[in-house]
Amino acid sequence: MEAANLIEGISGTGPLAARRRGILFVMSGPSGVGKGTIVKALLKLQPELKLSVSVTTRQPRPGEEEGVSYFFRTPEEFQRMVSAGELLEYAQFANGFYGTPRRFVEEELLRGHNVVLEIETKGAIQVKERVANGVFIFVLPPTMEELHERLVKRQSEAAEAIRQRLAIAMDELNYLPFYDYQLVNDDLEVAVKKVQAVILAEHCRVVRNLSTY
Ligand code: ADP
Ligand code: 5GP
Repeated sequence: MEAANLIEGISGTGPLAARRRGILFVMSGPSGVGKGTIVKALLKLQPELKLSVSVTTRQPRPGEEEGVSYFFRTPEEFQRMVSAGELLEYAQFANGFYGTPRRFVEEELLRGHNVVLEIETKGAIQVKERVANGVFIFVLPPTMEELHERLVKRQSEAAEAIRQRLAIAMDELNYLPFYDYQLVNDDLEVAVKKVQAVILAEHCRVVRNLSTY
């Protein structure tokens, strides 16, 4: 069975649904909006969630750990993973490539665990095409000025890279209608509560519970 079909099978509503596959939650939003901060707080409250660690060709920032923040790889190794079909999705963002290792997602969903991806919009669209019943959440900044300020405060990119990320952010907003849920990351605690509410609501969907009838 082709891997993409396998994922459809495991998170769909067919006979395999009786085994209670996990739910795939995909979180997107402009760089600097606070996706990483939200996910970190969420994992503290719900440690049973499985966060997918992406592969990237960009350089590690100070404090980032191999295998925890990302798997940092050369462009050649990244290309090899693409060719070998090891990535569920991938995209170019700013000056780097980013991708989601397929196996981790498949295995955790099969085990019945909920998986969280924190990825940009082009990758999210690929996931929507490949994974049935994924849940897509878009995190918005209170204002574009606040987004700029957060990127400056994070001190992870130079001024030119921040300009580039803000330009990409404007483009990413066009993809909002493609998502299932949106939330503004103004008060962090409220934003995290909203993500938890989404997770709870998705567990209550009839279609995800048909096997219990
Ligand atoms: P992303 O993962 O979306 O690129 P980060 O999680 O790295 O963004 O957050 C970018 C910056 O914004 C960080 O310095 C973080 O501490 C800050 N931040 C995140 N959420 C909030 C919030 N609700 N209010 C104020 N600052 C925030
Ligand atoms: P950063 O360089 O700030 O860590 O990430 C830049 C952008 O790439 C963010 O929007 C982040 O969500 C996204 N990203 C991280 N991992 C992946 C991935 O595996 N696939 C895709 N498509 N985007 C990713």
